Amino acid sequence: MNGAIEYFKAVTAPKREQTDRMDEEGYVVCGICGERKQQEIRVPESIHPSGRWRVPTACRCERMRAEAYERRIVKQEGIAHRKKLFLWSELPRGAHTFSEDDQTQRKESAVCQKYAAQFAEMEKRNIGMMLYGGVGTGKTFLAECIGRALCEQGKRVYFLRATDLLSDIKSIPEILYKAARSDLLMIDDFGAQRDSKYASEVMHSVLEQRRKVKKPLLLTTNLSPETMRRETDLDKKRLYDRILEMCPVCLYIKGDSRRREIAEEKKREAQRLLL
Ligand SMILES: [Zn+2]
Repeated sequence: MNGAIEYFKAVTAPKREQTDRMDEEGYVVCGICGERKQQEIRVPESIHPSGRWRVPTACRCERMRAEAYERRIVKQEGIAHRKKLFLWSELPRGAHTFSEDDQTQRKESAVCQKYAAQFAEMEKRNIGMMLYGGVGTGKTFLAECIGRALCEQGKRVYFLRATDLLSDIKSIPEILYKAARSDLLMIDDFGAQRDSKYASEVMHSVLEQRRKVKKPLLLTTNLSPETMRRETDLDKKRLYDRILEMCPVCLYIKGDSRRREIAEEKKREAQRLLL
């Protein structure tokens, strides 16, 4: 028992730092914030005959230091978590962000930004979106921006290239697992996948998996909704109907081919430098 009392007295003994001072009642006071670093508590008389004992307490500076430390830890954990989500997403390493958007397609970009900003609502209502338009119009660019923004929000995104669907590097069970597990499934360049019965079966399984979990799908494609509706091939028609049902928002990305524009600009630059 005596050992315990000695221990209690040792750990509650006042620790005075150089900047600390004593006030008129003999409490240790922080010389920086002016708050007491001790408080009196009731103790059994076996500890002190007065029934009172002063124990250390954190002054404002110490509380602020502890809070800052806590915030730093939370922030570091957040960064690590978002990094993991980004790797899981399989977005390309240099995936674009809205901050890189050159605003050539202001309206379309605004819709995509809103989609990302209001994703919680999109997710709740299971509202998918289809970005369609010609080659090189920036559909993938916008899809990547949405994906990046959602990773930053702590959302689980899965970016699946339709052309990778049947490559040997990807295992179908893993694709199906991620298609069901992600908050947003993105299928990039739909329609560019190999045109075979098997390919359309796999794609159908992916969409079916997604439909079952009732979570949104974002798709980029060269095919317009009209083309999809007019399709007469039954296998394709089945896929297209499912997509149109899952993507009530169809956004036409017209863009004067972004790639062509960049090429033109390069050509002008080269001419200016060389001729
Ligand atoms: Zn202080």
